[in-house]
Amino acid sequence: MLCLGIETSCDETALALVRDGVVVADVMSSQADVHALFGGVVPELASREHYRLIGALCDEVLRRAGVTTADIDVVAVARGPGLLGSLLVGMGFAKGLALATGARLVGVNHLHAHLLAAGIAEELPYPALGLLVSGGHTHIYRMESPRHMPLLGRTLDDAAGEAFDKVAKQLGLAYPGGRTIDELGRKGRVNPTMFPRPYVDNDNLDFSFSGLKTAAGLVVQANPALSEAARAVAASADRSVGSACVDGAAPDSALCDLHDMCASFNHAVADTLRIKLERALVRENGPLPGTPPPAKRKGKKGRAAAREGQQSAMHEIFDPADGCSPSSEHGRALDCPPEADRVPVRALVAAGGVAANSYVREALTDLARRAGLPLLLPTPALCTDNGVMVAHAGWRLASLGLGHDLALEAIPRGRTIPDDFTMFRTV
Ligand code: ADP
Ligand code: MG
Repeated sequence: MLCLGIETSCDETALALVRDGVVVADVMSSQADVHALFGGVVPELASREHYRLIGALCDEVLRRAGVTTADIDVVAVARGPGLLGSLLVGMGFAKGLALATGARLVGVNHLHAHLLAAGIAEELPYPALGLLVSGGHTHIYRMESPRHMPLLGRTLDDAAGEAFDKVAKQLGLAYPGGRTIDELGRKGRVNPTMFPRPYVDNDNLDFSFSGLKTAAGLVVQANPALSEAARAVAASADRSVGSACVDGAAPDSALCDLHDMCASFNHAVADTLRIKLERALVRENGPLPGTPPPAKRKGKKGRAAAREGQQSAMHEIFDPADGCSPSSEHGRALDCPPEADRVPVRALVAAGGVAANSYVREALTDLARRAGLPLLLPTPALCTDNGVMVAHAGWRLASLGLGHDLALEAIPRGRTIPDDFTMFRTV
C-alpha cells in the first residue's frame, strides 16, 4: 500500500510517501524565514505559501520515489488541529488528488500523527502513555491504538514550545527559538532553583507554562546583558560563539550567564514534563518499582473541594460526577488507584517539536529507566512537523480499513477532532 501524506497545518509544507510502513521519499519546505520577520506565524502568509508550493512539492516527492499519482493507494492529510486557512490548502489538494486517482482519502489527527511517529523505527506496544509537546500543544494521552487515544491532561495556557519561543523572542533570538535555547543551555550549568516548576503543586495532569515564561521574562528584563549576549549569538552564524563556561574559563561572563539561564530554563521545562508524566504513569500502572505506594486517598468531600480549587480543564476530560468513577471514554479520574481490570501501559512515548529537546529526552529516558518501560521517541527530525508522520499515520489507519469521504472537514485549533472514520475494505 502506497500512502501519500500531506502536512500543511502550520508553517511547514511537507509531503511524504510511505509504502507498507517504509518511508520511500519525503520533502518539506519550512516557512520559518518568512515568519521570522514577525516573530511568529502570520496565518494569511502561511496559507499563501502552502498554496504556492504544494503542487511543486508533490511533483518532487513523486519524482524522488519514482512513482506517479496513479500508483498512490491512499492520500492522507493532516485535517487539524491547525490554522484553518493552511489546513484547507492541504485538504483541497488531497481531495482533488483522491477524486482524480480513486485513492482512499484519510483525514489524520495531526497530534496523533506526531505520537505515532514514535512507531516508525520500531513497533509501538499498546497501550502506551504518550506525551505530545509541540509549539501549540502539551498533552498526555493514553494511546490505546492508532485510532483511539483518550486525553488525560493538557495545557491550560501556553504550550511548552510556545514558552520556548516567547523566551527566545524576549532574548532577541530568531523564531522558532526552542532549538537555540537547547543548544545554548548545553554550554551552561543548571541552577535548579532559578525557575519554578509551574503548576505541579496540585493533583492533576494538566500543564501551565505561562508562569514559567513570565519568570524567564523577568530574569531577561532584569539583566539586559543577557539579551546583548543573545543578540551577539543571533548575529553570528556560529552559535558556539564564545567558549563553553562549564570548563571554568569564563572570558565573557554575560555569555556564560546566558548559557546558565538557558540550561536552567531547559531543565525547568523538562522536569515539569517529567513530573506530570510520572504522575500519569503512577495513575495508570501504580507506584514505580522501588517506590512506596501513594498516600491514602482523600474522602469524597476533600476530593470535591480539591477539584473546585484547581480550576482544572479536567472537568471536560473526566466524569465530574464522582472523582473515582472510571470513564472508559475519557480516561480515569484523578485520584483513583489503578483499576484492577485496566491494562497497564507497556511503553512511554514522547513526540512533537519539544521532544527534540536534549534535556526533555534525558529526563524522560531516566523516568522510563526507573519505570522499567521502553521509551519511544521519534528522531529529532521527525519530532517537528513533517510529512512522514502523516503518511505513516494514514498508512496505519488505512490498514485498519479506515478512511473518509469527500465531506471530510478541516478542524482548526481549539476544536475537538471527531472520530468520524468510515469503514472501507482494507486497501
Ligand atoms: P507545531 O505542530 O505546534 O507547529 P512542532 O511539533 O512543529 O509544533 O514543534 C515546533 C516547536 O518545537 C517550536 O515551538 C520549537 O521552538 C520547538 N522546538 C524544536 N526543537 C526544539 C528543541 N531542541 N528544544 C526545545 N524546543 C524545540
Ligand atoms: Mg506539530
